[in-house]
Amino acid sequence: MALVTKAIKGTQDLLPADSYKNRYVEQAMLDIATKFGYKEIRTPVFEHTELFSRGVGDTTDVVQKEMYTFDDKGGRSITLRPEGTAGAMRAFLEHGLFNEPLPQKVSYLTSCYRYEKPQAGRLREFHQFGVECLGTAAPAADAELIALGHSIFSFLGVEGLQLEINSIGCPECRKKYHAALHEYFESHKSALCGTCLDRLGRNPMRILDCKSPECGAIAKDAPKVLDYICDECAAHFETVKKHLDAMNIPYVVNPTIVRGLDYYTRTVFEFVSTQIGAQGTVCGGGRYDGLAEQLGGTKTPSLGFALGIERLMMLMQAQNTPLPEEERLDLYIASMGDEANVVAAKIAASLREEGIGVQYDVAGRSVKAQMKFANKLGVRNTIVIGDSEIESGKVTVKDMDGGESVEMELDGFEDS
Ligand code: ATP
Ligand code: MG
Repeated sequence: MALVTKAIKGTQDLLPADSYKNRYVEQAMLDIATKFGYKEIRTPVFEHTELFSRGVGDTTDVVQKEMYTFDDKGGRSITLRPEGTAGAMRAFLEHGLFNEPLPQKVSYLTSCYRYEKPQAGRLREFHQFGVECLGTAAPAADAELIALGHSIFSFLGVEGLQLEINSIGCPECRKKYHAALHEYFESHKSALCGTCLDRLGRNPMRILDCKSPECGAIAKDAPKVLDYICDECAAHFETVKKHLDAMNIPYVVNPTIVRGLDYYTRTVFEFVSTQIGAQGTVCGGGRYDGLAEQLGGTKTPSLGFALGIERLMMLMQAQNTPLPEEERLDLYIASMGDEANVVAAKIAASLREEGIGVQYDVAGRSVKAQMKFANKLGVRNTIVIGDSEIESGKVTVKDMDGGESVEMELDGFEDS
């Protein structure tokens, strides 16, 4: 196929036959977040590269290997956002939202870009629904954020997702943990992959996130972060769990979750499915108390999560999760001849003013072909306008679901 009629590897089209499903799911997520006090934020698709190298962290796979980075015509290094948190935090700092009542709760639906190896559940352009709760260190906020994720999945009827939580401590207790990890992996150095050898010097916790089976086997017996966290971090984690228990949200503590981005502190969590293959993490998030300062802003303990839309839709499809039917059009006006087509246009215009969904022939088709088209559209009602209808001023509204047909005045339509 010619290059211009083929989408770039790792990108996907969402076609009209499916788009209503995404719209339904996305609207549901925004609505539920609104009920939790979140308001939508929109930030640019591209940002200064440094926002991500400083924010996401230059020891992460995302920054080291996956970013779409280029120089613009003014010679500035620009990056297409690989995730939504850094941009939301930048906007929070830039616009002084820290002066508003805290926490500031924001939600977003965005496209994200990562140069990854395309496979099921892993794209180069994908979409996230994300939330950020900016300006609170309290563990109640962590549990409430997780509850929001839980509510979304339960509203949508998604089943079998396991919530896994962990605490990766604060920079203070992480020092001890890093030292222990370093010692452990140093003694298994010969079996680590090249990337992990590099991680060993820069950020040994990253090794726990390696997808290679060899590194995974070594990581399995590595020191566990929960054995190293300080009393305050441990108490924080206990309160998060207490809140989750009180809200009846089932979870398991998985001490191997570290998350792929550098900014995380304390609580981290994932909603994981076993039904969509290797890329099973549908939603991931956690606390990032140091990010604002890392970006040169005022200290703002915060937390958030991001949910992969494509993975969620894959899971819902795999589970046959019921979705509402696509909305049907109210009326199709078939017309016989040019004069009737003008009348159809006139009636459609006034009905549309009233908020009624109408289509009529804009393709110059025969009445038979128009009715076939209307059938395919799945409209609720049809009328046919020809010379005799124009003359008598009466039309028959046919209920396409087999209900009763009713006669109506043509005038009635026009005045309505
Ligand atoms: P993974 O471990 O699967 O690479 P990640 O830790 O890189 O995920 P995050 O950066 O936390 O993922 O992004 C949040 C969510 O966005 C993921 O849980 C997933 O649902 C989705 N996601 C991440 N990368 C991709 C991608 N390349 N294609 C499709 N969805 C993705
Ligand atoms: Mg990743």
